[in-house]
Amino acid sequence: MSTSKKEITIRGHKVSPGFAVARARVYRKQKPVIRPASIDPSGIDKQKKRFREAREVVEAELKRLMKREVDQEALDIIDAQIEMVNDPELYSRIETLIEDSLFAADYAIYRAFDNYLDLLESAEFELIQERSVDVADIRDRLIQIASNHSVDLEIEPGSIVIAKQVGPREVIQLAEADIEGLVMDRGGTTSHASIIARAMNLPSIVGTRRAAEMIEDGDPVIIDGKEGIVIVHPDEETLSRYRQKMADQEKEEERIEQLIDQPSVTKDGSPFILRANIEFLEELPNVKKYNASGIGLLRTESLYIRRDHFEDHSKQESFYGRIMEETGNLPVTIRLFDAGGDKFFSLGSRENNPFLGWRGIRMLLDEQDLLRDQLTALLRIAGRYPGRMRILVPMVTNIEEVLAVKEMLLGIQGRLVEEGVPVDEEVQLGIMIEVPSVALQAPQFAPLVDFFSIGSNDLTQYTLAVDRSNELISEMYRQNHPAVWQLIRYSVEAAADADIAISVCGEMAADPDCASCLLGLGINDLSMSPVNIPDVKAQLIQREYSEYRELAERVLAAGTEDEVSTIFREWKQDKDHG
Ligand code: PEP
Ligand code: MG
Repeated sequence: MSTSKKEITIRGHKVSPGFAVARARVYRKQKPVIRPASIDPSGIDKQKKRFREAREVVEAELKRLMKREVDQEALDIIDAQIEMVNDPELYSRIETLIEDSLFAADYAIYRAFDNYLDLLESAEFELIQERSVDVADIRDRLIQIASNHSVDLEIEPGSIVIAKQVGPREVIQLAEADIEGLVMDRGGTTSHASIIARAMNLPSIVGTRRAAEMIEDGDPVIIDGKEGIVIVHPDEETLSRYRQKMADQEKEEERIEQLIDQPSVTKDGSPFILRANIEFLEELPNVKKYNASGIGLLRTESLYIRRDHFEDHSKQESFYGRIMEETGNLPVTIRLFDAGGDKFFSLGSRENNPFLGWRGIRMLLDEQDLLRDQLTALLRIAGRYPGRMRILVPMVTNIEEVLAVKEMLLGIQGRLVEEGVPVDEEVQLGIMIEVPSVALQAPQFAPLVDFFSIGSNDLTQYTLAVDRSNELISEMYRQNHPAVWQLIRYSVEAAADADIAISVCGEMAADPDCASCLLGLGINDLSMSPVNIPDVKAQLIQREYSEYRELAERVLAAGTEDEVSTIFREWKQDKDHG
C-alpha cells in the first residue's frame, strides 16, 4: 500500500474513533447549475409541477433510505429532512417565487433556501452553522431533480471517501456502499453527517478543510479517528504502526465495555454518579452506550435552531417527552434556554460584550412569554414522569432572578392543577453556578433552590475575566486557576450547610484529574459528554476516597495554576510508582 510519495498528515476533528486503511476516492459533488433566467408567465404551471415532482422524488428517496438498516438516531435525522422537504412555508415561498417573480423552478428553490441558509451560516453558534450542510444538501438535491441534472453516486466499495462536504442523506448512501471510511473537509463533530457516520460506526474525520484538494483518487490513505487525522501516502513504518493499532483497538473496546458495566464507586466503596451532557435527541444512544446515570445537563438551545419548535408547545413538549421516555427511570436535568453570549440567536441587537450581556435568565425574564412557554411545556411533561425532572436556571447573578422564576413556576403549576393536568409537586428547581456572585453568595442562594450545578466553563470565564471564545487569550483561560477552585469550595460548603445537592456540568467534570479533585471536595455528581465517562470512571475507581480528599486539600492550598498542574502530575506519579 505504501508509495514513493512523501507522507503527509492532514488534521481534522474526530467523528468516530475507528481506523481505516484504504485507497482514496475523492467524491466531487456535482454542484447544481443555477440559471437565474426568468420564465414566460405561460410556463408558471410547468415550473410549479417541476418543483412538486422534485419534492416528491426527494421525499421518496429519503423514505427509501429510512428502510435501510440504520438506527433510530439516523432515522430521526432523515425524518427531520423529510419534514424540511415538506415544510409548508418553504413550499409556498418557492411557489410564490415562481408565480410572482417568474423564476424557473430550480432558481426559485435556490432563492427560497437562500435566506435560511444565510441565517444559519452567519449564526455564531457552531451547532447552528453546521445544520446549513443538511439544508444545502436538500436544496441541491431538489435543484438537481428539478433541472434534470440528477447523478447517481458511484463509489467503489472498500475505498475511503474524501469529500468537501456531505449531507446526512449521502452518508447513509456511502456507508451502504461499503466504504471503509469518510473524510469531510467541512462541518463539525456535531453536524448531522457526523452523527450519522458515528451511528453507523464509519471511521470518519471532519473539518479537514483542504483534503479534497490535496488527495487524489487512488492515493493510499489512513484515517485515524482517535486522533482526528488523515495520513496520505503512509510509509511502511506508519502502515505497520496502524495495523498494530487496529489490532489494539479491539482491546480498547473491550476495556470500555468492561468499564461501563463496573459500579461507580471508589476503591473503598464510596459512590459517585456520572451523568451525560446532551443537546440533541441524536445523542440519546450514547447516554445508553456509556451507561450514564441519566442526564445531568440537557441544553435546550437546539430547540431554537428551528424557532417554530420553540414557539409550538407541542413540539417543545414532544422533545422533552422523548428525552424522558428514552432515559428509563433516570433523572433528567433540563436547563432553561441559555441564549446569548456565544449562543447568539439574533433575538435582540448585537452587543459589545455579549458574554456580559443579555443572556440566560436575564433574557428569559425580559421575554416572559418565552419563559412561560418553556416552563409550561416542562411542567406538563414533568407531571407525566414524576420525580424525574429537574429544571436548571442558567446564568443566574442575583437572588431576585431566582425568586422571579420560582414565582412563575409556582403560578404555572397552580394553573395546571386547576386545569386538571397532572403535575409533579416535587419538581426540582436548581441554578447554575457560573457567575462568581452566585458562588460568593451561595449560602443565600442555597435555601431557595433544590440543587446547584456548577458551570465551570462560564465560572472560569467570569472569575478570570477571560472571554472563553477569544483565541488571543486562550492561554489565560485556565479552569484550574486557584480562584476557580476556591469558588467551587464555597459552593460545596453552602450546599452541604443547606443540605441541597451539588453537581458539576462544565468541562471540568470531563477531565479525570479535575473530576478526582471535585470528588475529593465532596462533589460526587458529575455530568459530561457521554464519551468522556469511561476515562473519568477509570480514574475515580482507582483509589480510596481519602486519597481524592487529600488531593483536593492540596489543590485548595495552591496559589497558582501551575502549582495545581504540578500537584495533579505528582499525584498521578505517586500512584504509578506506588
Ligand atoms: C458551563 O458554563 O460550564 C456550562 C455547562 O454551560 P455552557 O457551556 O452551555 O455555557
Ligand atoms: Mg454556561
